[in-house]
Amino acid sequence: KGDPRLEAISAAIRVVPDFPKKGIMFQDITTLLLDHKAFKHTIDIFVDRYKDMQISVVAGVEARGFMFGPSIALAIGAKFIPLRKPGKLPGKVISESYELEYGHDRLEMHIGAVEPRERVIIIDDLVATGGTLSAAISLIESQEAEVVECACVIGLPEVKGQHKLKGKPLYVLVEPS
Ligand code: AMP
Repeated sequence: KGDPRLEAISAAIRVVPDFPKKGIMFQDITTLLLDHKAFKHTIDIFVDRYKDMQISVVAGVEARGFMFGPSIALAIGAKFIPLRKPGKLPGKVISESYELEYGHDRLEMHIGAVEPRERVIIIDDLVATGGTLSAAISLIESQEAEVVECACVIGLPEVKGQHKLKGKPLYVLVEPS
């Protein structure tokens, strides 16, 4: 904290009230992607944190984890694994359900994408309840790989979800202003 880059990142995230439904304060990272400096600060901070931690896998959560994960993976010399919504991956998959506010959803990963004992970070744009990241952790752990940390650009302060992340550390850059 006190890092001026974090203020630039916060300032570049647009907050859209009542999207996609009433009562949700939607944190829109597309405006962060439009701001080259703030976008680069975001990637740089993650890269600095993970470059010397023997991470061989960056796993990104569909869809907005795909916007940050590959840049980080390339910079730290890791591979990138997409964790996708149901029915999108063509190969053999393993699947994990998780609860949403209304109903449930599923994440899928290709079998063989990650090897046992690999060191993995999982990335998404935002953590709210932590349900999505928990499903992602289960997918990685089911292949006997190690989740070193979950990383998000934004953490909602009221829920944060850390208790739900199966004991794994959570690293977030900013909280909504
Ligand atoms: P959760 O599983 O409750 O931690 O929710 C996190 C997932 O939902 C992430 O993939 C986010 O992209 C999305 N999400 C939840 N709340 C918001 C919000 N207020 N603004 C933008 N995305 C959100």
